[in-house]
Amino acid sequence: MHSKRIGLIVLIAVGVALLIGIPKWKIAAQEKASKIAQGTSKVTLPVSVNNIKPNELGGIMILEYHLIGEPEAEWRRAPENFRKDLQMLYDQGYYPVPLEDLVSGNLKVPAGKTPFVITFDDSSQGQFRFLKQGNQLLVDPNCALGIMESLKKQHPDFPLTATFYVLPEIPHGLRLFGQEEFMKQKLEYLAAHGYEIGNHTYWHQNLGKTDDIGVQKQIALCVKEVQSYVPGYRVHSLALPLGVHAKNRILEQDGSYQGFQYHNDSILLVGSGPAISPFSRAFDPYKLERIQAGDTAWGPKSYVSYYAKNPSQKFISDGDPTTVSVPKNLADKVRNISRNKYKIKIVE
Ligand SMILES: [Zn+2]
Repeated sequence: MHSKRIGLIVLIAVGVALLIGIPKWKIAAQEKASKIAQGTSKVTLPVSVNNIKPNELGGIMILEYHLIGEPEAEWRRAPENFRKDLQMLYDQGYYPVPLEDLVSGNLKVPAGKTPFVITFDDSSQGQFRFLKQGNQLLVDPNCALGIMESLKKQHPDFPLTATFYVLPEIPHGLRLFGQEEFMKQKLEYLAAHGYEIGNHTYWHQNLGKTDDIGVQKQIALCVKEVQSYVPGYRVHSLALPLGVHAKNRILEQDGSYQGFQYHNDSILLVGSGPAISPFSRAFDPYKLERIQAGDTAWGPKSYVSYYAKNPSQKFISDGDPTTVSVPKNLADKVRNISRNKYKIKIVE
């Protein structure tokens, strides 16, 4: 009964999203997907496991999930499919990293592996549900968090983590993962178990249609509310609702509302492709692209198969966090800040 209501709210939200901001990026994603398809038809070489050359300027997937539940839909991933996505990434040599590490370039990824990031928007219950057993709260094994926790135990060499972009002041089902009696416990759990809590504004406000004071209010109050449950927690990443920038973009990074200051190290968009390596000149932490989950031509599976056929396009770690390994032809693409901070290794 309750989940039906949540479903309805989400359907309305998605409907609004479709009307406002989605078509543009989706068209871009579809164009990109058709380019991927064209590219893959020409390349037939499989990846040689023994001959993987590091390339730390290659693309990195930031996966973007919304609802987790049944049935599978454009903005909803079925739990079983979420599990399959993660298993596929594990099997194909991908390695989960916190968004924070991608943004800072502090990537601790084993040699030959490709980092990826998981993000969730809108703090719905399917992402994180508690089940009550007597006096105890158990993480539902079929919510996204439960699935990640169980895979983590199964594969200790796959340290799953994610950033949850939360909504503290949206009515009903989406307010801090839905079960309002457990809001504090859930945020505490995330903070204590190596997950990141991100900012998705106070109530999913379209920042492009908001004045400067309103933008700062939306971003500041989200942080303030999270900190009211987890004192001192540093919220430092913003996922733009509907992928729409504020008119005054600097306010996405820094601002204040009624004396409460905030700062974001990264800004995430809604679509529609891999993110650029943090060691590249083209890297912009305030415009990070993501890959929307789903079995589409622009979804994670399509990119995994594209990268399997075009391994030179993806980030492949050299296993040493103090060096940045780059193919010779990309040597001039390394950003200056990385040249100063790391040893640059040219891969012939
Ligand atoms: Zn959203």
